Amino acid sequence: MIRLTNIEKSFGPLAVLRGVSLTVAEGSVTALIGPSGSGKSTLLRCVNLLEIPEAGELVLGEETVRFTARPPDRETIRRVRLQTGMVFQNFQLFPHRTALGNVMESLLVVLKWPEAKARARAMELLDKVGLAHRADAWPAQLSGGQQQRVAIARALASSPRVLLCDEPTSALDPELALEVVEVLTQLAREGTTMMIATHDLRLAASVAQEAALLEAGEIVESGPARELFTSPRQERTRRFISTLR
Ligand code: ADP
Ligand code: MG
Repeated sequence: MIRLTNIEKSFGPLAVLRGVSLTVAEGSVTALIGPSGSGKSTLLRCVNLLEIPEAGELVLGEETVRFTARPPDRETIRRVRLQTGMVFQNFQLFPHRTALGNVMESLLVVLKWPEAKARARAMELLDKVGLAHRADAWPAQLSGGQQQRVAIARALASSPRVLLCDEPTSALDPELALEVVEVLTQLAREGTTMMIATHDLRLAASVAQEAALLEAGEIVESGPARELFTSPRQERTRRFISTLR
């Protein structure tokens, strides 16, 4: 479903991803853990081509992108973006759109759906995240947890193959984080493919079947989440996990 092979990404002289390979099966959830600055966000951004790697290969469904000195063309980038949904740490809702307007936006602007069809789909998604009753609220009128749930609904609007979540609970108090964990857990049960960068072991343990530890742009260890969290093979993994508890 998603296969990253030998992904390399630098910012100037700084090599941020140094040959990362990772496979995410359809319907599975992979937690990306690792210290701050290890390259988790950059890796997620390479999957939706918000960042363009210098080398390596990305397979996303039927799409195969080989990264060379020449960047992928705009049409390829557009097709890959349409197959991914992104959820950010700080929600990034459009402040001048209601909850419903936020979820409808890409359906209207990118996919050019008619208004009524976009509205129906957006209401369905707001209902899925438990916020149909707040459809007309402005982002500023919603709690952080509610804003993040709207952001999740928005990311799902175009039925992406994969939901990319970058520290989706990090900006939230534990109580509000819980409602986001519950929504992501439900999506996982329904078979939504996800990659989640997180420091939140509760989130990782309840949502992810697979996990990978990234350190300084390299995958130290990857495998079933439960094993990685409870009986890691690598000493470095054990040490990092102990900092999260
Ligand atoms: P993480 O999400 O694991 O904290 P990031 O992927 O955000 O790590 O960052 C990895 C490294 O890349 C950090 O050293 C960060 O400062 C650097 N970095 C990230 N984005 C950029 C950018 N656009 N320009 C320059 N350096 C960047
Ligand atoms: Mg990050």
